[in-house]
Amino acid sequence: MRVLPFTDRFFMLHLVTHPDYDIPLAEGHRFPASKFTRLISHLESAGVLSEFTQVNPTPASVAAVSSIHDPDYVTSISNGTIASDALRVLGFEWSEALARRSFLAPNGTLMTAKLALEHGLACHAAGGTHHAHYGHGAGFCVFNDIAFAAVNLLDEPDINRVLILDCDVHQGDGTARMLTHEERAVTVSLHCARNYPARKAISDFDVELDSGLDNDGYLAILGDTLSKLANIMRPDIVIYDAGVDVHIDDRLGYLNITDDGLRARDDMVLKHFLSQDIPVATVIGGGYDKDEAALMNRHAHIFKASVDAYARYCC
Ligand SMILES: [Zn+2]
Repeated sequence: MRVLPFTDRFFMLHLVTHPDYDIPLAEGHRFPASKFTRLISHLESAGVLSEFTQVNPTPASVAAVSSIHDPDYVTSISNGTIASDALRVLGFEWSEALARRSFLAPNGTLMTAKLALEHGLACHAAGGTHHAHYGHGAGFCVFNDIAFAAVNLLDEPDINRVLILDCDVHQGDGTARMLTHEERAVTVSLHCARNYPARKAISDFDVELDSGLDNDGYLAILGDTLSKLANIMRPDIVIYDAGVDVHIDDRLGYLNITDDGLRARDDMVLKHFLSQDIPVATVIGGGYDKDEAALMNRHAHIFKASVDAYARYCC
């Protein structure tokens, strides 16, 4: 795939989604099972969806996913033979529907990244399963869509450096470990120090945040991180994990970021890269709240920010 300069791009903002992304789970499960279709409905009622061209990925093959994960693990997800202790670490029961969505989402993030290369920016209404490791899933993450996209992008002749900017409140430990020997994929994780996973991996750049950090402190650290990165590298594409579990009301995060802070974060990231003609693919990452309307509102920020940033920097 040829990387087009921004001036040669055909202007179209894409949203990658699939009706089979939801996960059937027992009542009361901590993971918001139907968040993916609810997010699309929310974006539609908020008048945002019509700004995007929607596209659906096809499932990745067992062989394709096995190029980054242990083939035995991939097969165990495909045919349901995954052991019960492995499922406990993963946090899900196995089902046909879980298997299907697990093979769809990695291709969804890869598709988003390829659309971003073509058009400057694209958004995945899923993705960010950054706790998935080479041989096992963990923390509600079956396969690592970010590592999958990065490795496949780097197979393209014109892609020499992929930057992964992970702003989920939890460290992107699986991504860091899976890409540790791939120097062309640079992993950056801004995460709350005292949060899952207890045993952190070593990313190329880890920025550990104190519990209770507020908007101003968070945005200052993010701005500083972006400046430092700009001084040492220029990626061909950025995969941005816009996890909303940094929010003050999130069940699993310990930061004090408000809705205004979330939106300012997304605006800052998109402006930083798009104003330099660096394509950005966004994934939604984590977000946990019993108040589903509030949660959808948080996830919607990255899509609203993308619509605005696309008009400003890509057209
Ligand atoms: Zn998270």
